[in-house]
Amino acid sequence: MVHTDPTGKTRPLPDPEAGARVRADDRGHVFHSWSAQAVIDPLPVAAGEGASFWDYDGHAYLDFSSQLVNLNLGHGHPDLVAAIQRQAGRLATIQPSMANDVRGDLARRIAAVAPDGMDKVFFTNGGADANENAVRMARLVTGRRKVMSMYRSYHGNTATAIALTGDPRRWPNEPADGSTAKFFGPYVYRSPFHSSSPDEEAQRALAHLEQTIILEGASTIAAIVIETIVGTNGVLMPPPGYLAGVRDLCDRFGIVYIADEVMVGFGRVGEWFAFQAFDVVPDLITFAKGVNSGYVPLGGVVISDRIAAHFDTLPFPGGLTYSGHPLACAAGVATFEVFERDGILARVRDLGSRVIEPRLRDLATRHPSVGDVRGMGLFWAIELVKDRETREPLVPFNASGTDAAPVAAVAAACKRDGVWPFTHFNRVHVAPPLVIGEEDLVRGLDVIDRALSHADDHVR
Ligand code: PLP
Repeated sequence: MVHTDPTGKTRPLPDPEAGARVRADDRGHVFHSWSAQAVIDPLPVAAGEGASFWDYDGHAYLDFSSQLVNLNLGHGHPDLVAAIQRQAGRLATIQPSMANDVRGDLARRIAAVAPDGMDKVFFTNGGADANENAVRMARLVTGRRKVMSMYRSYHGNTATAIALTGDPRRWPNEPADGSTAKFFGPYVYRSPFHSSSPDEEAQRALAHLEQTIILEGASTIAAIVIETIVGTNGVLMPPPGYLAGVRDLCDRFGIVYIADEVMVGFGRVGEWFAFQAFDVVPDLITFAKGVNSGYVPLGGVVISDRIAAHFDTLPFPGGLTYSGHPLACAAGVATFEVFERDGILARVRDLGSRVIEPRLRDLATRHPSVGDVRGMGLFWAIELVKDRETREPLVPFNASGTDAAPVAAVAAACKRDGVWPFTHFNRVHVAPPLVIGEEDLVRGLDVIDRALSHADDHVR
């Protein structure tokens, strides 16, 4: 049952009884991620279209977090839905050791947009297992075991991926795989290196990385894994020259450079892969999320020819029943067609520079709680502080409960006004679907702007 709302959008009729049944089944039987089960109250969602979704009580939300920053082409995209339906009717599944048309088609398209000399794709079910398998490849090719990654990072929830993760989600999973080591990446607004410019930050972060490599034992290090733009942990933009410097260090010490593009790949920042905006070429690229907007789980590793050649005669010791699942790959092929037909990359760059950036820079001048805004394309962070001079965060690192209340109040105000925000620690991120209409984008930014008054209340 649907009706048309005042803006002309079709949405389901409110059905609180159905919503109550969904909630009861969920609370009774679904065990949720990352949560104390008794204290959560997951929102029952009835349907979605484009950049919006609806609950059963008739509330609509503009999705400013693209679910978990995966829903790049929005809910219910007709091309993706049709591609999955067609594929389901023809061949819903086929084991990975057989050749399949949509799997090969998608791999060819991914290789075509990847840098020259990266021609093979290993498909996984998502981002964590993409990183897991990329690390395995690096270890086998180098004969080394240790892998380095940044503090303030997330790489997934499998054994190696959580060990690589540089945020509090790793802590309860320790002792994790011990053959990992962390380093500080650049963070221009809160420089761990006391630098005073992006150039200095890049130089000092590289000197720190070089020292860490030497002290950890360069000959023991198989790979360095880096989110090209750190995602959940802050939309941390690499300053000019940093990634090129990482590339040089990897070359100098024989280390494999793995670019984790799970969140930022496939258009989020207006490029197929975010590293393409920073003029650097990694050895392995991991991807997931935006490759098919998560309509069917899919991830993978794009492999340089040099690493792929290692496995020409030696078997790769890894596989997954659903590697290159036809339904997921069909949605991936449709994603490429939509991106190319609708000029998605150019659209993202345009909306980012013309609509989001000026608005966030303006909002930063008006709200005393806004310490920094940063990002590109449709991927931005608003960093909130108690004091602009000292840059003391609005809430402490990893805050929960009452400590987190000031940011929770901003999120609640957004939801009341029909925007589903992405908040993390002392930040609000702006990451709507890449297909969001300009009017909706502006409306969502208006809502965030108003909601920030709740953060301003806590400024000293
Ligand atoms: N890497 C990054 C940068 C991510 O943001 C995520 C998920 O948020 C992952 C890896 C893990 O992906 P998945 O949840 O599909 O395993």
